[in-house]
Amino acid sequence: MNIEQIRADFPILSETVYGKPLVYLDNGATTQKPECVVRELERIYYTTNANVHRGVHRLSQQATDLAEVARVVVQQFINAPSSREVIFTRGTTESINLVAHSFCQQFCKEGDEIIVSEMEHHANIVSWQLQETIRGIKLRVIPINEKGELQLDELEKLISAKTRLISVTHVSNVLGTINPIEKIIEIAHRNDIPVLIDAAQSIQHLTVDVQKLDCDFLVFSGHKVYGPNGVGVLYGKEKWLEQMPPYQGGGEMIKQVSFKGTTFNELPFKFEAGTPDYPGVIALATAINYIKKIGLDSIKAYEDQLLEYCTDKLTDIEGMRIYGTSGQKCSVISFLVGNIHHYDMGMLLDKMGIAVRTGHHCAQPLMDVLGIEGTVRASFAFYNTKEEIDKLIDGVKRVVGMFK
Ligand code: PMP
Repeated sequence: MNIEQIRADFPILSETVYGKPLVYLDNGATTQKPECVVRELERIYYTTNANVHRGVHRLSQQATDLAEVARVVVQQFINAPSSREVIFTRGTTESINLVAHSFCQQFCKEGDEIIVSEMEHHANIVSWQLQETIRGIKLRVIPINEKGELQLDELEKLISAKTRLISVTHVSNVLGTINPIEKIIEIAHRNDIPVLIDAAQSIQHLTVDVQKLDCDFLVFSGHKVYGPNGVGVLYGKEKWLEQMPPYQGGGEMIKQVSFKGTTFNELPFKFEAGTPDYPGVIALATAINYIKKIGLDSIKAYEDQLLEYCTDKLTDIEGMRIYGTSGQKCSVISFLVGNIHHYDMGMLLDKMGIAVRTGHHCAQPLMDVLGIEGTVRASFAFYNTKEEIDKLIDGVKRVVGMFK
């Protein structure tokens, strides 16, 4: 990987913060966009802007064609059997809410159970809690061990005749743990239970093949995979999506509307009510093509080096506590040092031009399990460098020095 060349593709990386070169280590929250993605958005708005699936005129047809090509790009990226199984949403959060709403409406009755884990993002907790209120379902929770790994033997105990779905993250946005989702899916399917994989933190780091995984649903956000904000993906097996009722009503999701009754469009449009963010969808395909050119295997190998380098250097700092010490991790390090509050650490690092995330990372139940309020989190992308990690380490040491 030619990092210098790659960095040149991301103009924001040349920005300064308080007169210091930006060190952007908050990629778990959102990734920066390569110039080709921003240019594609601009190109669509300047040359091809027209509502999709609605017009017979040339611009509308061009925009529709590009958006449908983008669907195929996503389909191939995750190796979905059919583009009918790729639904565009606003992001991971909306994708999970869609499944929670429509799956539970079709398949869950009072007392039925959904299994999540202690390390889930709020999007994969609260979406189901809303269904607890609406439909009386219950959440069961897979615990983690002291390394921040899922306890799979506990999962087996949680499964019962009432279990309707297991919904887990592929990679923890706090601990960085790569969960053994192949094993989880195997256990679930042995018990005839479908599985939703939250790939918000894995799609940008690992090769995801939905056929090989045999997952029933998989969700991710465009903005975490170098694409635009406000667009995301829900992959679902046709057999589930066909049976699930629409999530929202409106234009495009219908076949025929009358006051006597309405029939719904076929997949994937049944789940895409209203005008979609087609420029976003088209530019998401540009982002996917960009990272495919670099290659996810090269990305993973390089990011693993950054993770190892940073972990080693952080570990040497006195009073350092790293949260998430699994042997299977990717691109995320959460830590606290001594009694230094995570906000103080984050704010002082910011003054040095270093952007890290602080707080509970939308994973308050996990913070409760860890017995802390929040952490400092550094999360890497393939455009980060060892020199930037050195700056982070120096910065953390300086902050520790200030609090001595
Ligand atoms: N799940 C995980 C694991 C995440 O890291 C995030 C984003 N932090 C989400 C879900 C929600 O993603 P979005 O806000 O893009 O919908």
